Amino acid sequence: MVSEHTIVANAAVAAQLPLARNDAERDAAHGWLAALKGPVTRADGGVVWDPAWFDFLQGDCPDTANPSLWRHAQLNAKHGLFEVTEGVWQARGCDYANMTIIRGDTGWILVDPLMTTESSAAALALVNDTLGQRPVSAVLVTHTHPDHFAGLRGVTSDNPPIYAPEHFMDYAAAEGVLGGNHTSRRAVDQFGLALPIGPEGMIDGGIGKTVARGTRGFARPTDYIKATGETRTIDGVAFEFLMASGTEAPAEFTFLLPDHSVLCMAEVCTQTMHNVLTPRGAEVRDPLLWARVIDEALCRFKDRTDILINCHNWPVWGRGNVEQFMLEQRDIYKFTHDQTLRLANHGMGPDEIAATLDEPDFLSEALHARGYYGTLAFNARATYQKYYGFFDGRPVSLNALPPEQLGAHYVKALGRVTRVLELAEKAVSEGNLQWAATLLNHAVFAQEDSAKAPLAKVYRNMAYAEESAIMRNIYLAGAQELDQGAPRLQGAGGRNSDLAATLGLKDWFDAMAVRLNADKARDVSLAIRFNVGGDVVTVSIARQTEFARIGDTSSTVDCAVTLDAAGLEGFAAGNSDTEGLTITGDKTALTKWLDLHDTFDLWFNIATP
Ligand SMILES: [Zn+2]
Repeated sequence: MVSEHTIVANAAVAAQLPLARNDAERDAAHGWLAALKGPVTRADGGVVWDPAWFDFLQGDCPDTANPSLWRHAQLNAKHGLFEVTEGVWQARGCDYANMTIIRGDTGWILVDPLMTTESSAAALALVNDTLGQRPVSAVLVTHTHPDHFAGLRGVTSDNPPIYAPEHFMDYAAAEGVLGGNHTSRRAVDQFGLALPIGPEGMIDGGIGKTVARGTRGFARPTDYIKATGETRTIDGVAFEFLMASGTEAPAEFTFLLPDHSVLCMAEVCTQTMHNVLTPRGAEVRDPLLWARVIDEALCRFKDRTDILINCHNWPVWGRGNVEQFMLEQRDIYKFTHDQTLRLANHGMGPDEIAATLDEPDFLSEALHARGYYGTLAFNARATYQKYYGFFDGRPVSLNALPPEQLGAHYVKALGRVTRVLELAEKAVSEGNLQWAATLLNHAVFAQEDSAKAPLAKVYRNMAYAEESAIMRNIYLAGAQELDQGAPRLQGAGGRNSDLAATLGLKDWFDAMAVRLNADKARDVSLAIRFNVGGDVVTVSIARQTEFARIGDTSSTVDCAVTLDAAGLEGFAAGNSDTEGLTITGDKTALTKWLDLHDTFDLWFNIATP
């Protein structure tokens, strides 16, 4: 199964990089106090998280993994409670992200509850069991991604104040809603959620192991951090903030604990190159601002920082090491940005740039800046996208053929599918896997099922040589889909109803409008006024387009509906017989409106037509 070319490529990686160096091993183990006892389970008995999932990583690197990724995966597999310095701890390897714990005057100050109620409660129990039982006196959420806040309900039974960056609510719920189904499906592939965990399957997630499979919830922040330089004393502990909004997340802060000489860079720095564009799909990020914010933190805090912690991966100890680490983290984004634009300004498009750009020399020593999560090629394409968009300027790209048409044309032009398979086999024997995958992918999209198994084999070999954990997962997920069809995982995807309940009316109705089926809406003219707990919105459908005008009480409508926010959520599921609903006017208009909307299936195909 593992080709000779893959074995040779992986051996070259092992020979070129200082993988036996033990500095990261020492840092990742530093201060270990107690292991997380697994498995963590849900109320229905299902397993949310089990650190034993990754015990296989204690072995030597198999042929089925890139040795650089294997080393990184071993480091991420260290789990439990770790003392960072007096009064500061981290729970790591209890979910995808880290929970940081700071001793306040009256209780624990927690930074970034994890992704699920169960995993965050388990991490807090580990803290209380190891360090002594105390209440949670405050919670900080560094940014808008759910691996840092969807576990809030597991740690907020004491009703602590919750601090978040300004504009947190504008993004935390809204970012995932409009495009949510598509990104959720692709997230299954990126995080390897449907893959077996093991040497031939999922081994790591780059910025952590994987995401917990528990209950996602939400609690609203009670206080917002707005500006760089803002200081707070939270339960007796001094915090000095630096805003990082627009870098790794649209709303994000970092902070210094001046009395501990600890700098928390949130997710702006990690022990890997991060994503300028996440492969699951989201708005592209700004690599230039990202580099600038790291430099601003370096200039502002370096003389007061002895330890750097992040909300993923392990810390960095020592003032000199912290400065070196931050310079290298800064420069991987600056290098990617500048060199992409240099090549673009020479006239190259995204494919040429990704193929031309060599990694900077410092990556052969600075392993923390290597592409275990984001990759240089992917981030160069993302930078191109940020500046120039998806179109590369060539006329042929204006109306590119969709994959099924293109595939059929290729197979016909090459003669027969057997010829395509022959050419692909030759490409594999020459170690030219991308060309082999291109040929076979055209055949698969031309509905030639005989190409599926060879393509799955090619994708697996690409995965086994891949240094990025998430790109490996994507290749393996593609291979799995080719072999078995798209996965159908129980309980995956779906709305975080706690979070959906916080959506503003504009976001809620914009998300509804995304579901309007334009064919069904042909020649339909319809208007409904909703009064949701006192807030009014008028929704109209005309010209096959749905538009929600917020606060409109004057335009003519077919019916008026009064209900509460919970009732509104029932509509999202297509349910019109909601309790406490009153309708005046044409009652059939509401049912008619609901019937014009599509529902989305999470398990659409990706690697197959
Ligand atoms: Zn994160």
